[in-house]
Amino acid sequence: MTELRIEGLSKRFGTYFALDDVSITIPHGRFVCLLGPSGCGKTTLLRVIAGLEAPSAGRVLVDGVDQTAVPTHKRGMGMVFQSLALFPHLDVAGNIAYPLAIRGVDRAKRAARAQELLDLVKLPGMGGRRIHQLSGGQRQRVAIARGLSIDPQVFLLDEPLSALDAGLREHMQIELRQIQQSLGVTTVVVTHDQKEALTMADLVIVMKEGKVQQAGTPMEVYHAPANAFVADFIGSTNLMPCDCDGKAISVLGARLPVVEGDLIRATGAAQLSVRPENVALVPPAEGIPAEVTFIRDLGESVHFVMNAGGRTITAQVPPAARPEIAVGDAVGLAFRPGHRVVLA
Ligand code: ATP
Repeated sequence: MTELRIEGLSKRFGTYFALDDVSITIPHGRFVCLLGPSGCGKTTLLRVIAGLEAPSAGRVLVDGVDQTAVPTHKRGMGMVFQSLALFPHLDVAGNIAYPLAIRGVDRAKRAARAQELLDLVKLPGMGGRRIHQLSGGQRQRVAIARGLSIDPQVFLLDEPLSALDAGLREHMQIELRQIQQSLGVTTVVVTHDQKEALTMADLVIVMKEGKVQQAGTPMEVYHAPANAFVADFIGSTNLMPCDCDGKAISVLGARLPVVEGDLIRATGAAQLSVRPENVALVPPAEGIPAEVTFIRDLGESVHFVMNAGGRTITAQVPPAARPEIAVGDAVGLAFRPGHRVVLA
């Protein structure tokens, strides 16, 4: 059982806080995605967990044991770097077994472990190949196998799939998750791709400017975001200034009674978040007046972009429910009761 705990972690570069009082508890065997925009501190957090970077304050604990004084190679953590950092002078098996070689594991054991891992990452029989003879996806698998070679307590991956094209990336997301589940290893993956995080993670940690904005399941961060930043970062949403007294939401000139299912996280001057799939198009007299400015037909769904009192609002409808509406038409907007979120 490996619980990873991060306590009051800060990392300062000069006067800049790349991490600012980060605390997270990751239970055994969970798959966690660190998600956030470029520069929010994801890689720094992963490096501090690994011991590649010393924190300015705070602690990293594995099963309650403080790791601060433990050097990287003794932390029992496997790593996959964004650049992969595979060695061209070694063959695939040599790359996979490299962390074992530097720990003094004998040749026969290394070879056996490399075979095992080649099977696990679905590269059987490829141990003798050179790195330059592999495709991007195969290299990715070698890097994952190498990260797992020491049978780590904690598996850390920094944007492991970012170099792959979209189709292969989706495929590898599922495979990585399956490998992790089969091993039950506590895993932390850095990504800036929210779809990737929602696909793979048990727990998503959304970061901004060195601070954790929310830690929750994919469902929680999507349906019950902690604040407007999270709502906007996870999936797409319509954010509108509103005023809320807890009983009703005043927005775009309308007053919408709060009903069960609506989530009110702030009162007074706040932001209303409504996902495009929860914006309904109704006859002009029955909703908030708007004008259609653009229609995007994506095949699987149709997006109607509208102007409502100077704000851009997007509605997403399934093709089968596509209304007979054209650019320039006047429409009414309704925000589905039970699906409105008021945030600070
Ligand atoms: P990306 O998605 O672009 O990789 P990130 O969220 O992983 O971004 P970090 O690499 O952790 O972000 O960087 C966080 C902040 O700390 C950035 O502003 C970065 O410039 C700064 N930073 C990181 N490493 C150093 C360093 N060694 N010296 C000075 N500043 C650094």
